[in-house]
Amino acid sequence: MGIKTDFIIKNTQGLYCPYGDFYLDPQLPVHTAIISHAHNDHAKPGHTQVFCTSPTALIMQLRYKKNAAQYFTTYHYKQTFKIKEVNITFFSAGHILGSAMILMEYEGIKYLFTGDYKLQADATCNPIEFTETHVLITETTFAHPQVKHPNPAKEIEKLNNIQGNIMLGAYALGKAQRINKMITDYCPNKKILVHHGILPLHTLYQKLGIDIGLYSPYNRKLIKQASNQYIYLVPPLTFNSYQNAKNVTRIFASGWKNLQVNEANSLYISDHVDWDDILLTIDKVKPTLIWTIHGDGQKLQQHLENKIEVKILENAY
Ligand SMILES: [Zn+2]
Ligand SMILES: [Zn+2]
Repeated sequence: MGIKTDFIIKNTQGLYCPYGDFYLDPQLPVHTAIISHAHNDHAKPGHTQVFCTSPTALIMQLRYKKNAAQYFTTYHYKQTFKIKEVNITFFSAGHILGSAMILMEYEGIKYLFTGDYKLQADATCNPIEFTETHVLITETTFAHPQVKHPNPAKEIEKLNNIQGNIMLGAYALGKAQRINKMITDYCPNKKILVHHGILPLHTLYQKLGIDIGLYSPYNRKLIKQASNQYIYLVPPLTFNSYQNAKNVTRIFASGWKNLQVNEANSLYISDHVDWDDILLTIDKVKPTLIWTIHGDGQKLQQHLENKIEVKILENAY
């Protein structure tokens, strides 16, 4: 009994649980994967058996087609299932549609793997749902006291001050849908045109009953009409290939403050927790031990010294 220090170990395929013989968000094809959400740094193709939420499976199938996985087994939030002797339950992570924190219980000890998560409001996915745990395995992408995300509505409202058409770059999954909904709500005079690389995800969100706001598929003629009210929502690659686009203001919606060239041409909207949100999460889930992955856990380790033991499991992929 007691906490297994080797409950999750890092090997070449990714984070492995020897007690359940499965991987969490593995980076290479494996026999059994539990996948927290469909962003492509977490959801890789080619696994034999994948356990995840239903939206995650649908997004993976949309993107990877036949390579998505041989078998998907999907569960709702808070529905417990078993892999070997480990009981597993998904809790909403508030990050994107279908995103889950993965609670694993073994010999009376709870281990909670957060995947990516956020506390900010997002109308396009379920809000985060906390659950208490003994061991918290958290991402530390922005675990620095100086990282404080601004109010996302205030960021979106910056678009109202821009005259003329806008090319807005955003990640196609999650961010694009969240932003589409926010523009609809906070910029009623703007009209959104959506790049074909984003459209299938918009459509899938809507099929799953999510209100992502108003938009039309991109149409070259429309944007040339110079109505000056269009926001052309494009994925990062398209955004980067139009460095010198004329008659349009280019803006990127980024969650990374350090990528901002200047305040004027980026919207700082993050789908991750900032410093305060991590501390609030720790408050809510009450771990006795924290293991960190993704990013740098050192600041957290220093901050919680003498209170909660923090072990750095992994420094960024
Ligand atoms: Zn993510
Ligand atoms: Zn991630």
